[in-house]
Order: sequence, then C-alpha cells, then structure tokens
Amino acid sequence: MPELPEVEVVRRGLERHVTGRTIASVDVLHPRAIRRHVPGAIDFASRLVGHSLDAARRRGKYLWVELSSGEAVLAHLGMSGQMLVQSADAPDEKHLRVRVRFADDGPELRFVDQRTFGGLSVEDTVVVDGETLPEPVAHIARDPMDPAFDLDAAVRALRAKRTEVKRALLDQTVVSGIGNIYADEALWRARVHWARPTERLSAAKARELIGAATDVMAEALVAGGTSFDALYVNVNGQSGYFDRSLAAYGQEGLPCPRCGSPIRREPFMNRSSFSCPRCQRRS
Ligand SMILES: [Zn+2]
Repeated sequence: MPELPEVEVVRRGLERHVTGRTIASVDVLHPRAIRRHVPGAIDFASRLVGHSLDAARRRGKYLWVELSSGEAVLAHLGMSGQMLVQSADAPDEKHLRVRVRFADDGPELRFVDQRTFGGLSVEDTVVVDGETLPEPVAHIARDPMDPAFDLDAAVRALRAKRTEVKRALLDQTVVSGIGNIYADEALWRARVHWARPTERLSAAKARELIGAATDVMAEALVAGGTSFDALYVNVNGQSGYFDRSLAAYGQEGLPCPRCGSPIRREPFMNRSSFSCPRCQRRS
C-alpha cells in the first residue's frame, strides 16, 4: 500500500499537471474502478465533465482533487493504483480503468490499476476544523506534515488509546499517514517495541515516536517516496525508491544498523512487524 510520502509524490504530480484544467470527457473502462461511486459510471462522468480540477489535496494517505463544482474526486490508490499523465496518442495501458480528457487537448489523466483494489469516486465535501474535506475523510486526523498538526494533541490521543503502541500509531483517527513501514521505522528509531501498551508510554516517548515517524516520512519524501511494489509509480510513470534507507522494515535477519543484532520479524495483524530484539525490548 502506498503510504503518505508516496501519496504526496502523486499529489504533487497532479497539482503540477492537471489542476486548472477543464474536463472534456470521462471514460470508465472497468466498473470496479468506480464501485465506491454508488450512482454509477454515467453519474460519475456527469459530475466531472465541464468542471475544472482546482487543487490536489492530501490528508494522511487520502488523496483528492477539488472540483470547481464544490465536490471532490477522491482517489483510492489501493495496492496498485497509478495516476498517469499521458499524451492522447500514447497506447492504452493494459490495466487502464478510467480516462479523463481535457478541453485543452493536452495530456490525458489515466487511472491504471492492475489489481482493481483502488478506484475513484466523486464525494460531497464538508468543512471540519476550518478545512474542506471529502466526506469519507472527515474523521481522519491531521498528519504530521500538515502545517496545523497539533503534536501535543496527538501525543494525548496516542496515549489515551488503550492498546499496543503500533496499533495506536496506525489508527488514522489519532495521527494519519503512518502505515506499517513507517510505523516500524519510527518504533525502531525511538527504541520502542511495537506491542508495548500505550499506558506504559511516557508523554516524552510518545512525542519522540511521533517525531521519528515525521522524520522518516520527510526523508522518504525527499527521496521521492518509497515502494515495495514495482507496480507503484508516480504520475509520470516513474517508480520512487527509498528502501535502501530502511533500518528495520523488511530487514529480517540483517544487522540492526545501531547494535548489529539480527532484525526479527513477528506476525502482526495478518502482516509483520520488524524490530531489533536488543534495541526494542518487549518490557
Ligand atoms: Zn539494535
């Protein structure tokens, strides 16, 4: 799954290539790609055609483009979703699901998704805490890259969750944008075992942990986003890679960069948690 840095790379690409452009036509080539848009393909297209794409926005891992109508196009990248900006005469991609043509006859926007877990939907917007958000994003907390992110409030919310610290970090209503990869990296940096109960996490440690998550995501963003799925590409069709910088995630058996102990992998919510047995003690 793309995490915050990868989604931000896509957002920047959309901001640069499609905002300000008026939509001329929309082709939905696979119904699954718009299954979250319950009224269907004809309604989906009618809400886009004739309107312009005003701004590309992101909160956590959620990505949307504001429409001049006041609605928003929410993009779910899923496991393999790609937003490609392509010239109209470029051959169709094998897994092209939605094509958007613009009135300026410039490059098209194409949503390509091999595994079809992703999709697009047009959503009503609501104003929450001074920000206009698509309705499905209304309950999502601000992410650490948000200029209005409140670190003290996030520390309180994290510690108030009565659960394992990694589950709290992944809870998008506490802090958004942190997924499995960056959670493991942040826990490694802050020397916290993923299963530590939040009630045994001091405010100082919680602050250090969120700071570490922020740092590792910011570094990934500088590197162009990370990805472990070759299917993931940014809007220009180029893969972003950052994996060489990972200390714990996916590093089972390799030496901890801090102490040299082999990184361990443990099962976690149908996935894995990677940590250092020496730097990140369970108790
Ligand atoms: Zn270590």
